[in-house]
Amino acid sequence: MAGEGEGPAIGIDLGTTYSCVAVWQNDRVEIIVNDQGNRTMPSYVAFTDKERLVGDAAKNQVAKNPANSVFDAKRLIGRRFSDSLVQNDIKLWPFKVIEGHADKPMIVVTYKGEEKHFVAEEISSMVLKKMREIAEAYLDRPVKNAVVTVPAYFNDSQRKATKDAGGIAGLNVMQIINEPTAAALAYGFDKVTVDKRNVLIFDLGGGTADVSLLIIANSTFKVKAVVGDTHLGGEDFDNRMVKYFIEIFKRRHKKDISGNAKALRRLRTAAERAKKILSSASETTIEVDYLYDGIDFSTCITRARFAELNMDLFKKSIELVEKCLADAKMDKRGVHDVVLTGGSSRIPKVQELLQDFFDGKQLNKSINPDEAVAYGAAVQAAKIAGMGNKKVQDIVLLDVTPLSLGVDAERGLMTVVIPRNTTLPTKMKRKYCTIKDNQTSVFFRVYEGERARAVDNNWLGEFTLSPVPAAPKGVIEIIVCFEIDANGILNVSAVERTTGMSCKITITNYRTSLSTTEINRMIQDAKEYEVEDDEHRKKVRAKEALENYAYKMRNIVNDKEIDEKLDAEGKEKIEAAIKEVIHWLDGIQHVEADEFEEKLVGLVLTCNPIIGKISGQQ
Ligand code: ADP
Ligand code: MG
Repeated sequence: MAGEGEGPAIGIDLGTTYSCVAVWQNDRVEIIVNDQGNRTMPSYVAFTDKERLVGDAAKNQVAKNPANSVFDAKRLIGRRFSDSLVQNDIKLWPFKVIEGHADKPMIVVTYKGEEKHFVAEEISSMVLKKMREIAEAYLDRPVKNAVVTVPAYFNDSQRKATKDAGGIAGLNVMQIINEPTAAALAYGFDKVTVDKRNVLIFDLGGGTADVSLLIIANSTFKVKAVVGDTHLGGEDFDNRMVKYFIEIFKRRHKKDISGNAKALRRLRTAAERAKKILSSASETTIEVDYLYDGIDFSTCITRARFAELNMDLFKKSIELVEKCLADAKMDKRGVHDVVLTGGSSRIPKVQELLQDFFDGKQLNKSINPDEAVAYGAAVQAAKIAGMGNKKVQDIVLLDVTPLSLGVDAERGLMTVVIPRNTTLPTKMKRKYCTIKDNQTSVFFRVYEGERARAVDNNWLGEFTLSPVPAAPKGVIEIIVCFEIDANGILNVSAVERTTGMSCKITITNYRTSLSTTEINRMIQDAKEYEVEDDEHRKKVRAKEALENYAYKMRNIVNDKEIDEKLDAEGKEKIEAAIKEVIHWLDGIQHVEADEFEEKLVGLVLTCNPIIGKISGQQ
């Protein structure tokens, strides 16, 4: 938190392809212009024989120095080298990425004649530092505090890595907020919304696609649902065009340029330019002199052809909208405003598909798609820093958790503690009982994901609560508490009730980052496997019911008071039946739920008449 006298607090949209910085000043948000006179800056860092370049200067020299010009660091941040998405990206990048310590990707460049290795956080920190310098030049004061945005679907480790990047840049990252929430803030901030409005934010950027549904009422921005793909955006469209041009070149000149980094880079730059033109013109020509082997390349591309090359990707972005509405349990007719943001939302075909999906509804283009996220971040920064006016101070942001969070307490089953799309910050508790007699410790694993079986989800961390008092199974109760702060960072604690023995972890362990594809696959899998998962759940419950009953009966017959009332024959009968069941349980392997149920019925039929008699005596 920023205190008084700590200077201005800025909002930074750290984009995959472009970044933008804004500040609250003169009673409004100002987008900060950089030394080139631009309001956004390419998220590029380049290394040469002499210097390090960031932003426009780095992007401008990319064609002559492709191997040492780094971009897309956001696609690496918080991910593992072995992640298949990272592996796919590496194939497309002209710079080198190798496996570093603990499966961390390392970017390799030559800087002043020496080989240097960087992690993604470092590259991002260089971009953030540049944003900070731009702000300092504009404000003519040192800047320390910032709110930085991330895609809503960024997971725990991606958020932490982003925060780390801020730290490396010397910034105090006051809060990490979600990009679509920031965009919603930009959209709703200047509107006097007395009525409740359901607002869908469609953010299609350079690297990511995010869709969020919010309810805006007065000054409260409450997120209902977020979905996204951290791997869908303008760069993918550029890649499709590049592939298309490579084919044309091959057909015309019988030469394959796909192995030539320099040629590819020049082609990609030309493709991106053409793509932008096609958002306003129906056709354009790309021209690259001396593209390969001294051959000039020139070809015409139409808007229709561009759309055709990317149709499946465009449709994927519309599917995100469907998913978001389903998650929010809202019919598309319930959406009051569909707000466009992100540079790629300018693509006419995307707009057309989106408008068709909403049965012809007019799309809202009132916010600047390149600046809205930074704008919203600046409002939130001002609020946290205690600057700004009453309108700023009245704002309340209520975000959600994108994945369900839960624990497995030695059962193999994911028990959800905080369901997906729960409003943050939040604190939720659940009760667990020991599952074995005289258990002295309980081992908890923490997961995020939507699957019933714990191991099918993403492991976040684990801890052991020890010692717990010795007691029969089911007697010891442990309260597990999950707490997520406003930054989306999770703390898990467990307390044993009678002794007050407790332990606590912050989920900071290095872990496998989930890619969005994985997340989406998990959600998809969760649906497909719902039947299988239900079976599994039912089975575990049936087994538990049988075990619980057997142990309850054993505790009863071992109870002195009750024991006195039991006749020897009855006691023997119960004990034999319990023994048989426990023996059977120990030996089973693949047993269906109904077999457990049958066993339970058998046991109840044996025990009930005997126990019933004595409780009648009481
Ligand atoms: P990110 O935040 O992911 O970096 P942005 O929201 O800044 O992305 O959008 C950048 C992307 O938008 C780039 O891929 C860029 O090529 C694309 N873009 C910008 N302007 C246009 C346009 N007029 N038509 C199509 N795409 C555009
Ligand atoms: Mg963006």
